[in-house]
Amino acid sequence: MNKNLNNVYDALVIGAGFSGLYQLHRLRDDLGLKVAVIEKGADVGGTWYWNRYPGARCDSESQGYAYFFSRKLHENWQWSERYPGHNEIRKYLNYVTDSLNLRKDIFFNKTVSKCSFSEDAKLWEIQTENGDARYCKWLITAVGCLSAANVPNIQGLSRFEGQWYHTGKWPHYDIDFKGLRVGQIGTGSTGIQAAPEIAKTCEHLTVFQRTPNYSIPARNSEWDALYTDWVRSHYEELKALVRSTPNGHPFRISNNLTMEVSEAERQKMFEAAWSDGGLRFRGVFLDLLTSQTANSAAADFIKSKIRQKVTDPATADILTNIDHPYAAKRPPIDTHYFETFNKDHVTLVDLQADPIAEIVQNGITLESGTHHELDVIVFATGYDAMTGPLLNLNIETAKASLKSYWGGGPRNYLGLAIPGFPNLFTITGPGSPSVLSNMPVSIEQHVDWITECIAHCLETGCTSIEAQEQSAEIWTDHVRETADATLLPKVKHSWYLGANIPGKPRVFMPYAGGLNIYRKICDNIAEEGYKGFDLISDKTHVISKPLDFKPSEGFMFGV
Ligand code: NAP
Repeated sequence: MNKNLNNVYDALVIGAGFSGLYQLHRLRDDLGLKVAVIEKGADVGGTWYWNRYPGARCDSESQGYAYFFSRKLHENWQWSERYPGHNEIRKYLNYVTDSLNLRKDIFFNKTVSKCSFSEDAKLWEIQTENGDARYCKWLITAVGCLSAANVPNIQGLSRFEGQWYHTGKWPHYDIDFKGLRVGQIGTGSTGIQAAPEIAKTCEHLTVFQRTPNYSIPARNSEWDALYTDWVRSHYEELKALVRSTPNGHPFRISNNLTMEVSEAERQKMFEAAWSDGGLRFRGVFLDLLTSQTANSAAADFIKSKIRQKVTDPATADILTNIDHPYAAKRPPIDTHYFETFNKDHVTLVDLQADPIAEIVQNGITLESGTHHELDVIVFATGYDAMTGPLLNLNIETAKASLKSYWGGGPRNYLGLAIPGFPNLFTITGPGSPSVLSNMPVSIEQHVDWITECIAHCLETGCTSIEAQEQSAEIWTDHVRETADATLLPKVKHSWYLGANIPGKPRVFMPYAGGLNIYRKICDNIAEEGYKGFDLISDKTHVISKPLDFKPSEGFMFGV
């Protein structure tokens, strides 16, 4: 180790998105630690630094997609639309960065290549691809859940003579699609946002659909001055709301059960939720994700709406041939997605009927031999979600690597800490509510918990904290059981289960018990002296707190 005073830190944070920025602020400004952030991109933004594809916009509503730790930050910021666009989110994160003077402690353009723990020095060594190394006692990953882009291994891509892009690594300049024939692979939340925008300017758009998807109209609109004033003056109410809902969104999930209202009433409620638009639709009934009958009622309603929008019945058939429960895959929301297929220059290709055979110099050929000539291919094909960004850090100790420990799927305690990897915390790791919730709210909860945990260690002279193996076993079982109580794991082709990545273990990754319940569990564990963790003091005295709690005190589910 080539350590000197300059490259040894109390804490290092990897990633400068919502999580990394807030974690830097809390550890540096509240605990007074020497902290730095290591960031791959050239600026702050995390997910939003990379996701600049046409139509990239957050599906969470603006009044809830923000930090709530500071009234001042809240009151001095103004969103312009119901859903924040990618440019505006980057502007917001830059505003926060500059307001808190965070930039001076962020190293940009540095990709972490390895994180190794030295048992002797009790320090993490963080190496980057540039060849430099930094050391720290506390290592916090803030790498996001959806940052490892997945470009599927389709034969022939290297032969393609046009341009190709992945939506999650979009160029930082405008792409002019005028006069170009564009093929888009993927119809998840991203593809559903991108297609209508690309169709506005390209000569021809061909959408290659493998799995059709439900989507609810977003009904985006500009904020008027009255609403901006309302949001600014209702900081406490909004904060309390997002921190108390199971999904961290600024709306409540109804207590109504789908089949306990009359058919006429049910349709009226679906209609009202459809008019309202966005992820709120998911909240119209309590049991949409726990009762197949309830879910089918919602699914039938949405399919009938899609049919009304799409003029060609054969195209409508392909778009509504959906075999999974509504919202069991992440439910997209859209702006004129289905209507896009009514345009003469937009074609839908059903890959279930005729899969892609190969990519050739001038386009995509299907197994039937049908060929689509293309100038551009857009891969809206998602991510190696949740575990991918963590495994890419090559985290290891002398005894184990994270890759081997997670060989059978993620295994950790609270989604926050991993047995065998001391003083390492994973913000929104697998096993936490993360992607089933409104991310900034989940992030604040994690960062606050980690900060209090480190403060506790500093106050009590504890030099090392590590999740117990038994805690990880109980928590991992609880994550699975909670998901099994819902319809979520019923979808076999879902990235929640890792099914989109060949060879990835099929394990349901996010915690479906609800952010509000999860928050209580984490708080109780802290209040009881970090139950389920081993805390080791300077005098190598081991304070082991056996885990005896029963986590399933009740559950709700997020979106
Ligand atoms: P995704 O949900 O994983 O969708 C990827 C799409 O690509 C799917 O339609 C998938 O088909 C298709 N695909 C993948 N490999 C393929 C192949 N080899 N051949 C043909 N099709 C293939 O990815 P995403 O749309 O980027 O969304 C990921 C997540 O990001 C979302 O679920 C959401 O959590 C988040 N997101 C958020 C926002 C927002 O809030 N603004 C916007 C976009 C995304 P299959 O379904 O058959 O696998």
